[in-house]
Amino acid sequence: MIFGRQRRKPISIPTKEVKEWKYTTCNYCSTGCAIEIGLSESGRIVTSRGHAGADVNRGKLCIKGLLEHELFESPGRGKMPLMRDKAHLPFAPASWDAALDKTAAKIKEIQAKYGRDSFAVVSTGQLLTEEFYTLGKLVRGQIGTNNYDGNTTLCMASAVSGYKRSFGSDGPPGCYEDFEHTHCLMAFGSNLPEQHPIIYWRLKEALEKRKFPLIVVDPRVTMLAQFADIHLPITPGTDVVLVNSMMHVILKEGLEDCEYIEKHTQGIEALQALVADYDPVHAQHICGIDEDRIRTVARLYAKAPAAMSIWTMGINQSTHGSDGVVDINNLNLITGNIGKPGGTSLSITGQCNAMGTREWSSCSGLPGYRLLEKEKDRKRVADFWGIDESFFPPARGLAQTDIFPAIETGEIKGLWLVATNPMTSMPNQPRIRKAMENLEFLVVQDVYEDVETNKYSHVFLPAAVWAEKEGCHTNTERRVNLTRNVLPAYADSKPDFWIFNQMAKRFEDRNQIHFPETAEGAFNEMRELSSDAGRMLDISGMSYDRIEAARGIQWPYSQAQAQADSQAIGQSEDFDMALRLPFKGNPRLYTDGVFQTPSGRANLIPLRFIDNNERPDTEYPFWLNSGRVVEHFHTRTRTGKIGNCNKFSPTPYMEMNPDAAAELGVEHQTYVRVVSRRGDAVVMVQLTQRVGRDMLFIPFHFHDCVNRLTLGLLDPYSRQPAFKQNAARIEKIDQAEAARLNLERRAF
Ligand code: SF4
Repeated sequence: MIFGRQRRKPISIPTKEVKEWKYTTCNYCSTGCAIEIGLSESGRIVTSRGHAGADVNRGKLCIKGLLEHELFESPGRGKMPLMRDKAHLPFAPASWDAALDKTAAKIKEIQAKYGRDSFAVVSTGQLLTEEFYTLGKLVRGQIGTNNYDGNTTLCMASAVSGYKRSFGSDGPPGCYEDFEHTHCLMAFGSNLPEQHPIIYWRLKEALEKRKFPLIVVDPRVTMLAQFADIHLPITPGTDVVLVNSMMHVILKEGLEDCEYIEKHTQGIEALQALVADYDPVHAQHICGIDEDRIRTVARLYAKAPAAMSIWTMGINQSTHGSDGVVDINNLNLITGNIGKPGGTSLSITGQCNAMGTREWSSCSGLPGYRLLEKEKDRKRVADFWGIDESFFPPARGLAQTDIFPAIETGEIKGLWLVATNPMTSMPNQPRIRKAMENLEFLVVQDVYEDVETNKYSHVFLPAAVWAEKEGCHTNTERRVNLTRNVLPAYADSKPDFWIFNQMAKRFEDRNQIHFPETAEGAFNEMRELSSDAGRMLDISGMSYDRIEAARGIQWPYSQAQAQADSQAIGQSEDFDMALRLPFKGNPRLYTDGVFQTPSGRANLIPLRFIDNNERPDTEYPFWLNSGRVVEHFHTRTRTGKIGNCNKFSPTPYMEMNPDAAAELGVEHQTYVRVVSRRGDAVVMVQLTQRVGRDMLFIPFHFHDCVNRLTLGLLDPYSRQPAFKQNAARIEKIDQAEAARLNLERRAF
């Protein structure tokens, strides 16, 4: 007789005959994993695997990367351009010429009638860097609207703003290798295992080799908090109070790095005077962390030979986002933890190429971290592109989060959305929907024609995805990596690079600019622009072949460094040798303690906490928080179509504390209605101790869900919305009605 396991059939994994592997970089999150795509004998894409020789992921991939090859033939792909006279009428197929002609004509018509800035462009963090550069050239150099931004305002704007205020420039100063050197790591609002699984794996690997304290600051018991030595369940939005209070302890007890402060910073007196008011005895009542804990953590951090901070949306998506980043920088500056192995202020970026758009898209400035506000920068780029410098505005225009209110007021009449889906991603969706209905003309350029925002468009331009194109991404640690073109674009979709180049031809009546025909040509322009003396963002020593050989190079990487590397291996074209180069770029910034401020010193900036956000009250008694789950990426336009990603997380759900649920008579896995002052959403309840009694958590990926409820007040510096601090209440709902409501809302 056969029992138990012996009776089961063994699992069989179908053989995938791979004839050839092609080199790419993952197109989801900012970790920047190197992926090889497997092609069969007949040229079909059959599988993906992590590249074992890549320093970032060392052969590993998360679920999204492992299944990424399924993207190419996923449902809902745009097959051909579509046009219609009015939103909500049926679309008609169109040729590329007709769709591009109509788009260009409508842009010109709106600009002629209402002014150049009445047409806005909102892009993304998910194109290739060469595409960002080309779009920037088109928008800044030809279309000439100043209302141009990326959806990165929803995720990284506070980090950018904070770096600029402290260090005089954007640019994360650290790298993943810092995990291998640090003696204390503090993670603020960052749930690495779900948000950036392979960065988490790098951290875990470092911890297994050499134990150091992991401190997690998060209102929720996230997966990372579960692995922490110390979890600080902070009151939402009060990070500045906690960090000020830590600095109070450090300065009072003489634990600061006096030599570093003296040589490399300015403003210590004002900072010291301000944090004197943040005694842990008082601070504990605001930030919710008891005074002894604050002192313990402050001492641990300051006494570590090297300590580092990482953060993600828990800091950035707040009305104090930019201040939160500056305060983390303050903490690292006074403890001498910038620019040394294991000592850094590392923002973990969101989208795969959010860094590329920050560096090269010209959204908030000009290419290569140049500023519209600086005459010298305007002149340099205008001369390089061959246009009159006066075509550029002297200051940046509206951020994405200000563009939608400007549509409401009629200041903006037309919009071009590139690979972004504000109908799901923006806070306060009812308001965004009304804004979209106000537009005279909307063009949506996206991989998927069923993206929610396309319901409001007049023209749809179908774009190619990921390895249907060629170009670079920059990851969180400033590593530029390459995606090779592996297969042709799906149906009659086109690479975004091609679409921008074709659109540029239609604006030559404004400015005649040369647009390279290949992505590598655009990359070479960027290299040239980056090589000016004194530019920190220097990629002039990179080339596609060198990047692929090194599996990614961290900027700055100058021509002089490339030549030195070439000499070291004897011949510059030997790429196998290049793999063994001791030097593959620069892992850290500010190693010499010289910053990008006029004085060369980093700014220590005193920050007073201002309680200016929505809070729970008797009518809306819960904090409502949102975040990511590992299976999905952003608005699910892609992962919602990938079988296993969707199967593991198919339903909009809400985490709720069992005690709070018992008080309201709410049961596990039933539907409830969550109500805020903006709207309501129906979700399935998951009872868990991961959230406190006064807190709810809903993943942000699902359409018509948490962003029906969010308020999204803006950070005054970065214009980033506070997605994570909202007040809400729970209403029980008839289960059949819940199903009906869900259906109705999906059909609006
Ligand atoms: Fe892609 Fe990020 Fe997963 Fe790496 S961790 S495979 S970059 S989604």
